Amino acid sequence: MVVNLCDYAIVMLGPPGSGKGTQVSYLVDLGFHVVSVGDILRSNGDTVIPGLNATVMDAMSSGMLLPDDFICDVVKSDMLNKLSSGDKHIFIFDGFPRTVVQAEYLNAVLKELSIPIKYAFNFDVSDDIVFRRITGRFSCASCGRIYNKFLCNTKIENVCDSCGASEFIFRSDDNEESLKTRLSQYYEKSKPLVSFYQEIGLLFNINASLSSDDVRREIFSKIGIS
Ligand code: AMP
Repeated sequence: MVVNLCDYAIVMLGPPGSGKGTQVSYLVDLGFHVVSVGDILRSNGDTVIPGLNATVMDAMSSGMLLPDDFICDVVKSDMLNKLSSGDKHIFIFDGFPRTVVQAEYLNAVLKELSIPIKYAFNFDVSDDIVFRRITGRFSCASCGRIYNKFLCNTKIENVCDSCGASEFIFRSDDNEESLKTRLSQYYEKSKPLVSFYQEIGLLFNINASLSSDDVRREIFSKIGIS
């Protein structure tokens, strides 16, 4: 299999609600190639996780991180599928790695594939902003556009501004209780990745409390897109 098709990889770090997914969607629109662990898991909702007495969706709803081995396998097989289709050049990792074990695994896999990580963007934002963003978040069931009932609602109630659909999705883990767990998991297991990537010279801090347009401008300028 020819796998050395990618120029480089980008890693998105930051707590839930820091805006990683929104920025990833801008890059995907430009043809970037995303490995979004949360999205992969949500599309496999009925799968039982080896070693855990729960389906993926049950485990995700609680806000706990899933086992490293399971997540690493999911990521590797998604990457290899995408590489074999072969027409994209830059990988973005959204929601992975979330532990140091996962980061070391990613380094090893990318080394095997000769794909260097060029940027680890760290989305820096306060817990207060995260709470408002997450507890108000919903998305259009048809086109996926993301809204927030406190910060940027639909212009007409229950009608998507982009596609006119009237069905919306509320994530089962976007509630206060699960968010507290997700944040404590973030501080305990994922925040150490900031030092991990800083030590290898790849960390770029992003002020993620700015508007999504401002954050996009900062990221685009860093990676050389005008
Ligand atoms: P996300 O969509 O990135 O917010 O992820 C939603 C949930 O999926 C998390 O709260 C975890 O339960 C699970 N998950 C996603 N990515 C990972 C990961 N890298 N490691 C462990 N669990 C993950």
